[in-house]
Amino acid sequence: MTHVQPKVIIHGGAGSSLGHQEKIITLREELRTIAEKVYHKAETGAGARDCVVLGCRLLEDAPSFNAGTGSVLQSDGQVRMSAGLMDGSHQRFSGIINVSRVQHPIDLADYLQPACDRILSDLGAAELARELNIPPFDPVTDLRLQEWLRARANHFQREAAGVVAEAEDEPVDAEARRGTIGVVVLDAAGQLAVGTSTGGKGLERPGRVSDSATPAGTYANALAAVSCTGIGEHIIDECLAARLVVRVSDGLSIAAAFEKSFAEATENGRDFGAIALSHRGEIAWGKTSDVLLAAYHTGKTLGDTLDLGPGTLTGVVDDG
Ligand code: ASP
Repeated sequence: MTHVQPKVIIHGGAGSSLGHQEKIITLREELRTIAEKVYHKAETGAGARDCVVLGCRLLEDAPSFNAGTGSVLQSDGQVRMSAGLMDGSHQRFSGIINVSRVQHPIDLADYLQPACDRILSDLGAAELARELNIPPFDPVTDLRLQEWLRARANHFQREAAGVVAEAEDEPVDAEARRGTIGVVVLDAAGQLAVGTSTGGKGLERPGRVSDSATPAGTYANALAAVSCTGIGEHIIDECLAARLVVRVSDGLSIAAAFEKSFAEATENGRDFGAIALSHRGEIAWGKTSDVLLAAYHTGKTLGDTLDLGPGTLTGVVDDG
């Protein structure tokens, strides 16, 4: 069996600037710790898909991020979560849309990978959770509930919840901010997988479908794998994840694919970010939003994108 250097990149959302320096320090610590755990699993020879599921579960359990525990509330005060998973080696997508009261939406997407019906929404998702005897779980945190109560007091003037939940005394940017989680892994056998999990934009109309459990937000084949975050409607309009993967499949380098796609995104006034890996082990990211909360492990270095300034930026890390 060929042995490839495993690589990992994860994200915890994209949006407008985070304000507090202490918050950046905490988020950096959380993201780096999870990127390391996923990398160590990949280093032991675990498959890309299993590593992705581990990373998504850890991020879903971290209340700072808008997925699983700590998911944002929708306009009716309910949490509905979505997750997409794609195994690049089989080029196979599975997903769960608008599921409530489960701890790890990614587990349902993982269960659906070999199924003949591979994308289930609300009613079907609830049925599946019941069938699998998944215990009911309440993902609402106090911070997210307070955020929703403040939004209601302001007659829902903000279009989306914060990229990370904030207490009332923290300076909340009046502009919409988002968050979601994503994990991309290249395993030691050279196979790629990607997963994305989200509570949605926050404060949205019940029934709205996020990009995360669609090929616009989560896509992979044997050559590249991409997870997106940001305004789902913008991600869908660009069909961003699939667009990047197709460009790499058609011969562009991952750096060129990101540069081209993010130049188009700027032109079109989009607000989002994406992380990716190529089968060659190049780690890539891009954003039009102010911040992209991403961390990566190359096998040699642990890095992150938290210090990047506002504006459109793309980057590739390739240290062999
Ligand atoms: N893309 C997600 C959505 O629109 C939100 C996010 O990434 O923060 O549902």
